[in-house]
Amino acid sequence: MGDPRVDAIAREARDAAAAAQSAAALEQVRVTYLGRQGLLTQLLRSLGTLPAAERPLVGAAANEAKRELEALLETGLAAALARERRTARERERPDLTLPGRRPPLGGLHPLTLVADEIIAIFAGLGFSVAEGPEVETDYYNFEALNIPRDHPARDMQDTLYLTDDTLLRTHTSPVQIRTMKAQRPPVRIIVPGKVYRRDVADMSHSPMFHQVEGLAVDRAITMGDLRGTLELFAREMFGPRSRIRFRPSFFPFTEPSAEVDVLCFVCQGGGCRLCKQGGWLEILGSGMVHPHVLRNVGYDPEEVTGWAFGMGVERIAMLKYGIDDLRLFFDNDLRFLRQFV
Ligand SMILES: [Zn+2]
Repeated sequence: MGDPRVDAIAREARDAAAAAQSAAALEQVRVTYLGRQGLLTQLLRSLGTLPAAERPLVGAAANEAKRELEALLETGLAAALARERRTARERERPDLTLPGRRPPLGGLHPLTLVADEIIAIFAGLGFSVAEGPEVETDYYNFEALNIPRDHPARDMQDTLYLTDDTLLRTHTSPVQIRTMKAQRPPVRIIVPGKVYRRDVADMSHSPMFHQVEGLAVDRAITMGDLRGTLELFAREMFGPRSRIRFRPSFFPFTEPSAEVDVLCFVCQGGGCRLCKQGGWLEILGSGMVHPHVLRNVGYDPEEVTGWAFGMGVERIAMLKYGIDDLRLFFDNDLRFLRQFV
């Protein structure tokens, strides 16, 4: 450039600018050379102290060095900002090689799983799902089902009454009445739902539990059909070696009535803790639909017959999964529920 002092500062400034990789480092270079106290600034300011003959040459060289440095800093700053933007973008880009975070997945409640399984078995036999209200009238819950006024089930001790005439249904059987009143035979329905009893919760009681009810009405339906259907159900639900037996029983809405047991699937009848050494497990109540019930819905018992059964979903789930306390189903303890996912 012609002046050794200017040349030295200019070289130093160029090297510093070339070495600066960030916008902040470039700014530091600018302050060092071009700032108010910067080396080139001071040099230009001190021109007046130089001999007159040197001033034009040094002045021109210093101004040239200043312009050159400004241009270098500008280019460097643009490059540094672009680099920094790129880095920021890369930092934001998701790393597809990282292992994913699994969102916590819910699962179906064991009672839902068992109810769904029962429904699926009967759906495969041509039954369709029917549902009804949980708040029922005395008529649908008791009267139409041939349960007389003095029957113990109608006692305040057993039933949760809302008014004199309305109550929380004590079984899913009112849906039988509602369905038969709404359609002509043949009827083949499976009825899942919540039912209510005036019980204090303990290992084997709950004021709310779940039932699945089945009803088939058609010409010439027999107890043999009921037995065949329930045998098939037991094999599907508890395994291909399952056997069932009927024990005479009494329900006001069926005649004859039978309790149905399944051969204990743990000991195959030999006796164990699950079946309390009896070899059989009670799974449901059933029977031929009482002629009074058929008449109550406008069916002619001379023309059609039917059978019905009702089972507790909790009971089936407890047997199937070896659960010994009914309350586990309603505590919603995730450690319990996760076992069924
Ligand atoms: Zn057993």
